[in-house]
Amino acid sequence: MAKRLQGKVALITGGARGIGAAAASLFSQHGAKVLIADIRSELGNCVATEIQSESGQPVSFVECDVSSDLDMLNAVDAVVSMHGKLDIMYSNAGIAGERAPGILSIDPQVFRKVFDVNVYGSFLAAKHAARVMVPKCSGTILFTGSAVTASYGLAPHNYTASKHAVVGLTKNLCVELGQFGIRVNCISPYVVMTPMAAEFAGCDEEAYKKRVLPDHLKLMRAEEVAEVALNMVSDESNYISGLNLLVDGGVCLKSA
Ligand code: NAD
Repeated sequence: MAKRLQGKVALITGGARGIGAAAASLFSQHGAKVLIADIRSELGNCVATEIQSESGQPVSFVECDVSSDLDMLNAVDAVVSMHGKLDIMYSNAGIAGERAPGILSIDPQVFRKVFDVNVYGSFLAAKHAARVMVPKCSGTILFTGSAVTASYGLAPHNYTASKHAVVGLTKNLCVELGQFGIRVNCISPYVVMTPMAAEFAGCDEEAYKKRVLPDHLKLMRAEEVAEVALNMVSDESNYISGLNLLVDGGVCLKSA
C-alpha cells in the first residue's frame, strides 16, 4: 500500500471514538504520527495504544476539551514537542447536544453548549494550529461540518447553525491562511453510524436507516468518512482549499 502521509504529523480532535478514531487509524496506517485529543481519556488512551500496535507508528493521546483555550494550546504544544511540527489539524470533535426542543422552549444554555464545542472548539483548534503552521508556511486544517449545511430539518437548529458557522470559518480561513501555504477545508457527512448517531437516533440501526436513507444506500461507516478525510489532508489535494465537501451519496441533492 502506498503510504500517503509518510513523515506527516497529525492532531485529531475527538479521536477517541467514531469518525475521529477511524481517521486516527487510517492516518497512522498511512505513515502519519498521530496525537488524539479528546475528553474521554480512558478510551482515548486505549485507542491510541491499539492503533500504535497495529500500525507501528507513534500514536499518543492527550486529554483535551476543545472548548478550552488552554487545553487546545497544550495539545498543540504537546504534538510539536513530541514530533517537532504539526502538518495536519483534523478538527473533528463535535456534539449533537441534548435533543433540543423547538425554538419556543429550548434552554439557551443547550444552544450555547453546542456552539462551545462545535464552533468555538473548531476556532481554537485552527488558532493554535495556525500558531505553529504560519511560521513554517505549510500545513492543512480540516474541519467537520455536516450534511445539515445542505439539507434542513435533519437535526435541531442549534446543531444546524453550529455546522454552518464551521463552514464560514473554513471559507474565511482559507482566504486568510492561503497566503501562508495553508489549506483549509471541511467535510460534511450525511448520517454515519457512530456512537453519536446511535445516541441521537434513539432506535436501532435498521430503523434509523429506514428513517434517514433511501433504499439503495447503505448506512455510511466511519471508515468511509476517514478515507475522504485522508484524501483532503494528503498532498495530492494540494490545490483544494476552501471546500465544504458533502459526503452524502447525493441524498441532499435529491431532497433539495
Ligand atoms: P462521536 O460522538 O462518536 O465521537 C466524537 C468524539 O468527540 C468523542 O470521542 C467525544 O469524546 C469527542 N468530544 C466531544 N466533545 C469534546 C470536547 N469538548 N473536546 C474534545 N473532544 C470531544 O461522534 P462522530 O459521529 O464520530 O462525530 C464526529 C464529528 O462528525 C462531529 O463533529 C460530528 O458533528 C460530525 N458528524 C457526524 C455525523 C454522524 O452521523 N455521526 C454526521 C455528520 C457530521
